[in-house]
Amino acid sequence: MGKKRRRGEEKRSIHPRNKYSDNPPDFGLLASLYPSFQSYVFYSREGKPRIDWKDFNATRELTRVLLLHDHSLTWWIPDGQLCPTVPNRSNYIHWIEDLLSSDTIPREKDVVKGVDIGTGANCIYPLLGASLLGWSFVGTDVTDVALEWAERNVKNNPQISELIEIRKVDFDEKLSDQNTKNGESCMGMSRNTELSTSSSVDLCSGEKKNYHGPPILLGVVKAGEKFDFCMCNPPFFETMEESGLNPNTSCGGTPAEMVCPGGEQAFICRIIQDSVQLKQSFRWYTSMVGKKSSLKSLIAKLREVGVTVVKTTEFVQGQTCRWGIAWSFVPPTKKIISSHLASKNVLTFMLEGIQRQFSAFHVLQSVESFFQASGASCKSNAASFHVDIRATMSHCKEILKNNSSTLKETEWDDESSGSLCLSSTSDDLHIRVTVFEQIPGTLLVRGSLKPGESSLPGLLSSIFQQLEDALRKEFFPEKVSTHTSKNHA
Ligand code: SAH
Repeated sequence: MGKKRRRGEEKRSIHPRNKYSDNPPDFGLLASLYPSFQSYVFYSREGKPRIDWKDFNATRELTRVLLLHDHSLTWWIPDGQLCPTVPNRSNYIHWIEDLLSSDTIPREKDVVKGVDIGTGANCIYPLLGASLLGWSFVGTDVTDVALEWAERNVKNNPQISELIEIRKVDFDEKLSDQNTKNGESCMGMSRNTELSTSSSVDLCSGEKKNYHGPPILLGVVKAGEKFDFCMCNPPFFETMEESGLNPNTSCGGTPAEMVCPGGEQAFICRIIQDSVQLKQSFRWYTSMVGKKSSLKSLIAKLREVGVTVVKTTEFVQGQTCRWGIAWSFVPPTKKIISSHLASKNVLTFMLEGIQRQFSAFHVLQSVESFFQASGASCKSNAASFHVDIRATMSHCKEILKNNSSTLKETEWDDESSGSLCLSSTSDDLHIRVTVFEQIPGTLLVRGSLKPGESSLPGLLSSIFQQLEDALRKEFFPEKVSTHTSKNHA
C-alpha cells in the first residue's frame, strides 16, 4: 500500500544497472516473438502495445516471457499466486548489490550468499540474483505450494539450480491455525507458540500486534552459517481487504503471501529481533517496507538494538512506492551518514512567517533549551544572538534518539546517503548556532562547527535537522504535520 506516484516519475527510481532502466519491456517485440503472449497484447489508439494489468494471466505471461527473453529463465506459477514484476524486483537485487559493494562496512570475498525470506512460489529473487549476478541463495518459505513451486522453478533452470537451496521453515502446525496448507494459510496465525525465538529480545512488545508466526531467521539459519545478506518481501498487510487496494493491477497473491497479523511492522520487527541474536552471521539484513510510516518506527527500533548502520531507499512498483531498509552489526569502515552532507560544516534554515510576538531572542532561548535537554552545555550570547554548544557523542546520540529526519531516501548514485552510522568518537562537538532576523517574521538559523573542527560526516546535519524540526514544532505547531524536511543548500 505504497504512496501513489505520478506517471513519468518512475524512471527516476529505476536503478541505473536495471536492464529495463533505459529499455522498458517492448510488448510489441515480445508479442511478435512469443505467440502465447501475443493474445494479451492490444494496441492503444496511438498504436502503442499494451496489456491489461488487471488480468492476472496477462501479467503472469509477461513475467514469464521477460524472464525467458531477458534472463534465459524458465518460470511459472500456479493461478492466484503472487506474480512479481521483473523490472521492479530487479531494483531490490541491484540495491543489495550496491550495499555489498559499498565500503560502509568492510567488503568481503567475491562469493555472495543470501537468504530470501519468503521466496514464494515465484522464487523471483533467487532466480534473478543467481542469473544476473551469480549469487547463491537459501530461499525459505512455509507453505507447501510455495515450496513446491519454488523448487520447480529452480529445477527448471539447471544453469543456476546449484546456486539455490529452497528451505522449508519448520514449525509446529498443530499450534497454528488449521489451514496452513496449499497457500491458503494466513501466515503468522499460529497462536501462543513459543518457537525457537523465545530468547529473542522483546523489543516489539510495544507494538499493537506481536508476530506469533513461524520462525523467520532464528531456527531457520543453521549453526555456523554465514550470509552476506538477507532480503524479504514481507506480507505487508493485516487483512486481505487491505491488500486488495489497487484495483488497477492484478498481481495475484494468496492470504499466505499478503497477510500477517500486525502486518509488515510485526514481521520486520521479528527480523530485527532475530538479527539481534544472529548479529554478524549476516553482513546486511534487509527488507522491503510497504508503508513509509512503518519506516520511522523500524528505524527507531534499530537504534534501540544498537545496529552500526541503517540505510533506506525507495523502490517504484508500477504506480506505487515501496521502501527498502537495511541494517548491519558489522563495524563500519567509514563514519559516514551522507557523503553529500559530509563537507557541510555550516548549515542554515529559515523560519518564515513566525508570529510577531516571537523574536530572534525567543528562538535563541529555544535553541539553548533544545541542546540542554540532551545534557549538552550551552553558553549564549544575547548581544550577538548566538549560542555556543559543547556536545559529547552521547549528547549527540541523545539528540538523535528519536530522530526520524535522518531518514533520507537514497539517490541511486549516492551510495551512502540515507545511512546512519552510530559509531562513537571521543571528540566533543563545538557548535555555534546564530539566529538572524532577516525581516520581521523571517528568521535565519545558522549552525556551524568551530573553525578548524570537523565532526563525523553528516552528524551536524542530522542534529541540525532535528533542531529545525523542534523549532518548527514549537513556533509553527499547526504546520508541523505537513512539513517535510528538505536538504539544506
Ligand atoms: N518473495 C516473493 C513472495 C513474497 S510473498 C515475491 O517477492 O514475490 C511472502 C511470502 O512469505 C509468502 O510466500 C509466504 O508464504 C512467505 N512467508 C510468510 N511467513 C514466512 C516465514 N515465517 N518464513 C518464510 N516465509 C514466510
